[in-house]
Amino acid sequence: MNELIDRLERQGGLSEQEYVALIHGRNEESARILRQRAAAVRQMHYGNDVYLRGLIEFTNYCKNDCYYCGIRCSNRKVERYRLTEEQILDCCQVGYGLGYRTFVLQGGEDSQYTPERIENLVRQIKTRWSDCAVTLSVGEQPEEVYRCWFEAGANRYLLRHETADSEHYRQLHPERQSLENRMECLRNLKKIGYQTGCGFMVGAPGQGAAQLAKDLMLIHELQPEMVGIGPFIPQKDTPLGQEPAGTLELTLYLLSIIRLMLPQVLLPATTALGTIHPQGRELGLLAGANVCMPNLSPVEVRQKYALYDNKICTGEEAAECVQCLRRRIESVGFQVAATRGDHVNKRKEEGKLYV
Ligand code: SAH
Repeated sequence: MNELIDRLERQGGLSEQEYVALIHGRNEESARILRQRAAAVRQMHYGNDVYLRGLIEFTNYCKNDCYYCGIRCSNRKVERYRLTEEQILDCCQVGYGLGYRTFVLQGGEDSQYTPERIENLVRQIKTRWSDCAVTLSVGEQPEEVYRCWFEAGANRYLLRHETADSEHYRQLHPERQSLENRMECLRNLKKIGYQTGCGFMVGAPGQGAAQLAKDLMLIHELQPEMVGIGPFIPQKDTPLGQEPAGTLELTLYLLSIIRLMLPQVLLPATTALGTIHPQGRELGLLAGANVCMPNLSPVEVRQKYALYDNKICTGEEAAECVQCLRRRIESVGFQVAATRGDHVNKRKEEGKLYV
């Protein structure tokens, strides 16, 4: 194991079989070594800085039917909502005052939020808060749409690939959704120039070391600027609602591997990680993560964006959320950075093209 970890750090990648061995053969010692190496690499590139992203969950309408997701179109139990442009801009205003310099607009694939509406929204945010980055996370779209939003000023895009194994993809999604299309979208986003994020759920039903090894191979190939991983958590009104959740232990292990593969990657300690363990996000930071994404959505709608059950931070106002998170970040020796927190590959462009 030690030799594998050494090589992972030196070469930034392993073979698929080696990833299987690293995951399958994991033990407390390999976890500790990975964590220490990942923490050192993260320290070298980012010091103690943690970047905050204000997450605005602006619609839970979705045309897709992912079997794991609480806002899938077949779930009749969710109360649907859609924030207006004014409400979203109000969130940004509050967030800016609290120190956020990145706004993440995330939602389902909602046909009422047309490409033009999102384009206008991006323009308005970038005009009013020109020192902020805008991240979009609204699923699979045609290349022209991604391009138009980029030209309107969007800087980053989050689109988890969910699983790199096409058979496994089939188990998690209905026939009409495909891994090929998801991958095509990710390649387009990279090509257009977005800081691009892929990722997956840890412990999703049907996932084993073989699938995770494929995920890691894909991440290595795509070289994303961001990687989002968090445990799968069942949502009771979905087809996978009775399946067990992913574990803290494996999520932390994978965060460390990803940090060693991509030393400069922007890697969030996700809300899902904070949901399965009270110190999940702090432990995520200690395992190599360097981003947190507190919720900036209006409190009235937070419960309704229930991708999974028992989601944390659905009751607090934005200001309380940021205070609580700041304390947590500082409790493990880190500090909140006041900058936009772009990936190093795109930083030289700040102030020019991409602002
Ligand atoms: N519609 C957008 C945003 C999806 S929600 C898109 O398609 O990209 C963001 C992420 O939440 C998803 O990519 C998925 O990985 C995660 N997610 C959904 N349901 C989940 C669950 N039950 N447990 C944990 N994570 C979940």
